[in-house]
Amino acid sequence: MATEPHSCTCFIIPSNMLRKLADAAASPADRSLLLDQCETSAYLRGQRSITPVVAGIASVGEKRRTIFDAHHKSTLPGKLARSEGGLAVADASVNQAYDGAGATYDFYREVLKRNSIDNKGLRIDSTVHYLSKFNNAFWNGQQMVYGDGDGKLFLGFTGALDVIAHELTHGVTQHAVPGGLVYENQSGALNESISDVFGSIVKQWKLKQSVDQADWLIGAGILAPGVGKALRSMADPGNKELTWSGDDQPKTMAGYVEGGDVHFNSGIPNHAFHAAAMALKGNSWDKAGPVWYKALGLLTSNATFADMAKATAQAAVLLYGADSAEQHAVQAAWTGVGVV
Ligand SMILES: [Zn+2]
Repeated sequence: MATEPHSCTCFIIPSNMLRKLADAAASPADRSLLLDQCETSAYLRGQRSITPVVAGIASVGEKRRTIFDAHHKSTLPGKLARSEGGLAVADASVNQAYDGAGATYDFYREVLKRNSIDNKGLRIDSTVHYLSKFNNAFWNGQQMVYGDGDGKLFLGFTGALDVIAHELTHGVTQHAVPGGLVYENQSGALNESISDVFGSIVKQWKLKQSVDQADWLIGAGILAPGVGKALRSMADPGNKELTWSGDDQPKTMAGYVEGGDVHFNSGIPNHAFHAAAMALKGNSWDKAGPVWYKALGLLTSNATFADMAKATAQAAVLLYGADSAEQHAVQAAWTGVGVV
């Protein structure tokens, strides 16, 4: 039988960003809080993720969101705070996690005809208020988990729809790529990039923004104003003016670092997607998004950037025909970033 699919404990904030912020921390207390959180993240990352087992039969088209509250502890999922169809509650984080998961579900359902994370109507579970002042959000192989942020550097993680869609997409990748994508090296950077790609598309779709109107930023609004404007830019990876002072993402293979963090090298495939979407014009979810989505099914667990270039070109052929303008635009995008 097939082996268990690769899943990840995938964080939105890379540990080296927390370390850089710790170096620049205003007080020893802030510094030690950030370093503690690096360790917590490393510990969680090392825990074996369990592939979700679907309890009960989901009916087709059913949206089932469940939001839990960890009450600043580490036990998951925590106490039930709001379930599908329930009225808004007093806690803004609960409602944001609920609404963000709903928008992401709707995008996958309406645009890509996918029924939830596993395409079988899997219940979407989220936990808010994880730990105290926790500066991160993650997908643990089964559910999404959000910290509140410390209020000094990070303002919370449920406020940005692209962050929510990024995390949920880690679940999609786990199921849509045969065997899942190994969370290290190029397959890991692709895993991260795919989450940024669909995180950005979901935000654009919700805001009805064309590729020209979109800001192409990841995590705009989650950083305190003094820290920066966003985590990453897909239009111009590594542009500190657009993001934050420690952003050093490469945008082409010239800046690729062997063994680099998955959130670092992901700038290259992110930039390829942006280039393809700009060349295809209009809305990112009309052509570029479906091409990237279809490519997921053509990848293997250890896929490289070159494999993704091939898979997206193949997907463009399947969707728009051989020698189509779409195929050429996709190939040119990967050539532009030096992958092929
Ligand atoms: Zn991620």
